[in-house]
Amino acid sequence: MTIELKVPDIGGHENVDIIAVEIKVGDTVELEQTLITLETDKATMDVPATHAGVIKEVKVKVGDKISEGGVIALVEAAGASETKQPESPKPVEIKQETPAPQAASFSGSADAEYDVVVLGGGPGGYSAAFAAADEGLKVAIVEQYSTLGGVCLNVGCIPSKALLHNAAVIDEVKHLAANGIKYPEPEIDIDQLRGYKEKVIGKLTGGLAGMAKARKVDLIQGFGKFVGANHIEVALTESTQYEHASETGAKKTVQFKNAIIAVGSRVVNLPFIPKDPRIVDSTGALELRTQNGKLPEKMLVIGGGIIGLEMGTVYSTLGARLDVVEMMDGLMQGADRDLVKVWEKMNAHRFDNIMTNTKTVAVEAKEDGIYVTFEGEKAPKEPQKYDLVLVAAGRAPNGKLCGAENAGVAVTERGFIEVDKQQRTNVPHIYAIGDVVGQPMLAHKAVHEGHVAAENCAGHKAYFDARVIPGVAYTDPEVAWVGVTEEIAKRDGIKITKSVFPWAASGRAIANGRDEGFTKLIFDAETGRIIGGGIVGTHAGDMIGEICLAIEMGCDAEDIGKTIHPHPTLGESIGMAAEVALGVCTDLPPQRKK
Ligand code: FAD
Repeated sequence: MTIELKVPDIGGHENVDIIAVEIKVGDTVELEQTLITLETDKATMDVPATHAGVIKEVKVKVGDKISEGGVIALVEAAGASETKQPESPKPVEIKQETPAPQAASFSGSADAEYDVVVLGGGPGGYSAAFAAADEGLKVAIVEQYSTLGGVCLNVGCIPSKALLHNAAVIDEVKHLAANGIKYPEPEIDIDQLRGYKEKVIGKLTGGLAGMAKARKVDLIQGFGKFVGANHIEVALTESTQYEHASETGAKKTVQFKNAIIAVGSRVVNLPFIPKDPRIVDSTGALELRTQNGKLPEKMLVIGGGIIGLEMGTVYSTLGARLDVVEMMDGLMQGADRDLVKVWEKMNAHRFDNIMTNTKTVAVEAKEDGIYVTFEGEKAPKEPQKYDLVLVAAGRAPNGKLCGAENAGVAVTERGFIEVDKQQRTNVPHIYAIGDVVGQPMLAHKAVHEGHVAAENCAGHKAYFDARVIPGVAYTDPEVAWVGVTEEIAKRDGIKITKSVFPWAASGRAIANGRDEGFTKLIFDAETGRIIGGGIVGTHAGDMIGEICLAIEMGCDAEDIGKTIHPHPTLGESIGMAAEVALGVCTDLPPQRKK
């Protein structure tokens, strides 16, 4: 029997936006399973199925409006016993825990007026600005430094990868010795290497400036602060280097219809750490500072996260012995331990001491080195001496540093700005994106959020509804993961099945002489759909996107396994891991019949 699944009583709301459709034709739905999500001005609500069965037709799509009685889908009902009287969906209040401040009233005049002013020119900010301009809006970016690209292009993702690429080639060449190809030790000209990194940054930031010009996006260089709900005052700056700017004394006030806050994050400084050129944050580490013409021989990395380990890899390849100290029980938190173990084994030679469950309690700068005292499980008894200490203990959001409160925007104690799925703050014409709205602090998240905010500024109904955001450590080997990990599944009681394809059986990995890695897929045990995955091995970061796409498309193992991957590639390992899930992988010994 075919039955219409309809919207029940939704508290008198009419023409409500559909922001998510959770079903497709052919799905088997159970009673109370969410069909669609609606959003009113004040709340979002999930609409559950009133009948179980197989979906024959879906009548709605994201962006449609619907009222009580509207037909969502047709279902081939499983039986009379599997029906339920419609219940009103329970609204989920949009999270707004921080009290909203009263906006300041601004009575001055503006020097310029825009449809959209974007505060901050990082990956989130410039992407939002360019997308808004592509929609035909009049747009300005306010950025305190002279180049666009923010942390990512100037002192983050890109310069670190420029250095990591050189380090990887040096390491790769060493591996060739085992194949009979021997090179002498490399001669490293640090000034030239630094110059290469600067050239990479210049090429990309120069490209962004050109693209801003081509889109007629105005760049206003200065430090911006909201002075009211529709105005930002910019203290104009001069800057020749990222993270260094001085105010010129001149000011400019811009008026906006919409604003996008994209002010990013900054390095967390530990209070007990003295100022000394031998103690650096990630920006300092990227400068490749030398002492008496030499790079450090002994380096401490405080914080065992991605940024610290990537920079540690560079310095280690350039000749430094490494120690790392991490308060948690393992390095690279967030990734499953089986992935991290492979990286640890391959990188053990770089480290003298990996101090997990340990914290840094004192740092003293002396003439002959930086002396550091530790406390905890792996703490050495005596203070340890280092030539260089990299503090990579996390980043803090800049939400409290841009006068957002003057515009009535709520900012949390820690400096984050809360937003809804449309990237709107509590003030409807002001959006926020990127690091300042929360974890994960990653450039690709910022970019997507920026696009959503821009589309909404242009009057569309756009939502940030990505199912997953991948994480990658660009170490050697790379470690990449996405979606539900085994750790998350265990923590949240999600029933999963997993399949692993070891690269020891990958023709390409063996030919490359790098078969230490593996590819793991994680499936929902009930639906069979892929919900997560992890890869450790060379180029893992370049491959994880396929697993992201599979998750977004709701693929199961058959979809992935029957997709023809080119041979011989590392990417093939994803198809083969899916074949392992199906029990049909002919590149491995026969699997036990289930
Ligand atoms: P940001 O990039 O922080 O940009 C914000 C901009 O706003 C800045 O340019 C700042 O000057 C400007 N600004 C702030 N306040 C004001 C104001 N009041 N007035 C005017 N201008 C203002 N992410 C990845 O995805 N992949 C990586 O490989 C990666 N590697 C990294 C390596 C390092 C060493 C670091 C430090 C970070 C790395 N990240 C990486 C993180 C990534 O850089 C950030 O997630 C990303 O830059 C955030 O973008 P955003 O637009 O939110 O802010």
